[in-house]
Parts: sequence; structure tokens; C-alpha cells
Amino acid sequence: IAMYESKARGRNIFCCYSADLDEHVTRTMRLKEDLKKAAMKGQLSVHYQPKFQIDKRKLEGFEALMRWNHPELGVIAPAEFIPLAEETGLIHELGAWILQEACTQIAALNRQLEERFYIAVNFSVKQTREERIIRVVQQALATSGLPAELLEIEVTESIVMEDAQRVNGIFAKLRALGVSISMDDFGTGYNSFSHLKQFRFQRLKIDRGFVQHLGEDSHDTAIVAAIISMAHQLGIKITAEGVETQDQLHILQEMGCDDAQGYYFSKPLPLETIQQLLLQKQLV
Ligand code: C2E
Ligand code: MG
Ligand code: MG
Ligand code: MG
Repeated sequence: IAMYESKARGRNIFCCYSADLDEHVTRTMRLKEDLKKAAMKGQLSVHYQPKFQIDKRKLEGFEALMRWNHPELGVIAPAEFIPLAEETGLIHELGAWILQEACTQIAALNRQLEERFYIAVNFSVKQTREERIIRVVQQALATSGLPAELLEIEVTESIVMEDAQRVNGIFAKLRALGVSISMDDFGTGYNSFSHLKQFRFQRLKIDRGFVQHLGEDSHDTAIVAAIISMAHQLGIKITAEGVETQDQLHILQEMGCDDAQGYYFSKPLPLETIQQLLLQKQLV
């Protein structure tokens, strides 16, 4: 259809379309290739986004988010490179890398400040399907000295249902280590509720999309209230992600939401900045 239409309209349109597509394919291929060596070349880093307990406004921990600083293409967003890492299978390596790095850094920060901050690390679905993840987690805990109860794993709802049994087995082994598991971006998947039925999560994270219009959109407000109440009835803690305004925070507090993270508190930051803010008592 594209070709037929372009020919009808003239050659130039077809050329432009084709060039765009080419450029996209070339970039993707290049990123896939470069990603293989990104960790080794020191191009990857971790940013930490603070997580707060709403009632006490108390800093409780951080979420680790991967950053890729490409020497020629600049900063590449995780939304672009994580899917490529999943496709190529590199996610296992990158996932192990960020887990190790985050556990080591937060364990050191805790020792330095005599704190007990927890660290949440995102796992891609692929990682939760392989038994080897258990050894990877054990090793990260052992070498960093981070107590297992201070590690949380965030998984998105894309967990494939056919794999439920397998994934559940792996979750059980992780929980047996003392690690907790949370469902990220709750409400965006097409079968959020089946996942709640199938898996035991210690925490749900309400997707930013619902938090965004809290107080403005009565529909969204009702949905968030219902999610919070449901989570509590299931004995699950609840975190709101993407909290950007004081109004949103107040509404969440009234609804009894446990924890929050978002630009209202802080963007994800490099460890050194977190350290400085903590030493200056500007984060608590
Ligand atoms: P996520 O796990 O849901 O992480 C939250 C994303 O929302 C982060 O984007 C964070 O920077 C952004 N965010 C936090 N607060 C706010 C806010 O108040 N407003 C807005 N507009 N955005 C906010 P980021 O860092 O670009 O990461 C995007 C996604 O990439 C993550 O979503 C996660 O699914 C994935 N990702 C990042 N790092 C890793 C990783 O190490 N492993 C895996 N498997 N996935 C990762
Ligand atoms: Mg997350
Ligand atoms: Mg999320
Ligand atoms: Mg997300």
C-alpha cells in the first residue's frame, strides 16, 4: 500500500518513507551491537529514585534505574535500549550487572550512614523465567552484604500466563531467600487481575498513568481509591509512582496509600548526589 500510494503521489514520498525506515533499522542494529560492550566500557550507570513512606514523609529506599551514556549518540533512554536487550538476550547480563551494582552501592551507603534503606531493582520478564536468576540474586546479596529483606524485585505485568507455574516457582525461591517481589505499573496490563490471582506480590505499584490526573479526573480518582483498598484487603503494600504534585500526594495520603515516588520528591539521581543530599539532610 505504501508503495502504491507513494508512486501515485510521486517518487519523493516513497524515498522519504524508505529513508526514515532505513535510519530506524540502522540505529536499532547499531544500538544492539554497541550494547554488547556498553557495560564493559563503563557506559552504563545506575540512577536512584528515592521512595518515601507517605504518612511520615520518610525516605525508605530507592529504585535503581539503568542509564546508558553512548559515546556518540548521547544518553539513550531505557525505553529504547531495554527492549533491545530483551530481544538479544543481553538482558540477563545487564540485569545481573545492575543488580550487583545497586546492591553494592546501597549496602555501602547503609553502612556509611547507619541506615536501612531498601533497593528495588527492575527485572525483565525474561529474567524471571530462568532458574539462574536465583544464583545471580544470591551472589549479589552475598558479595554486597545487603540483607535480603532490603532487596525488592519489580516485575511488570507482561509476565506471560503460560509461564505462570514456572515463574511462580522462581518467585517462591526468591522469597525464600528473603527478597520481596512487587508488581510494577499495575493497571496497565491487559490482565492485571489474573496476575494478582496467580502470583503473590508483596507490593503493587500503581502506574503513573492513573496518578497523573488524580483529583482532576473523578474516574481515575475512583480507580486509584479502589486499587489501594483492594491491595490492602489482600495484605499487599501499595506505592504510587509518578507523583508530581502536592495535591496528588494529599489525595493519596487520604486514600491510605503507603508509599510514593515521583518528581515531586525527586528525579532519579546518581549515587553521589543522593549521598550529598543525605549528608546535608535534604532528603529526609
Ligand atoms: P519503571 O520501572 O516503571 O520506572 C519508572 C519510570 O518513570 C522511570 O523512567 C522514572 O524515571 C520515571 N519517573 C519517575 N517518577 C516520575 C514522575 O514523577 N514523572 C514522570 N513523568 N516520570 C517519572 P526510566 O528511568 O526512563 O525507565 C523507564 C522504564 O525502563 C522503567 O519503568 C523500567 O520498566 C525500565 N527499566 C529501567 N531500568 C531498568 C533495568 O535496570 N532493568 C529492566 N529490566 N528495566 C529497566
Ligand atoms: Mg520499576
Ligand atoms: Mg513503574
Ligand atoms: Mg514503567
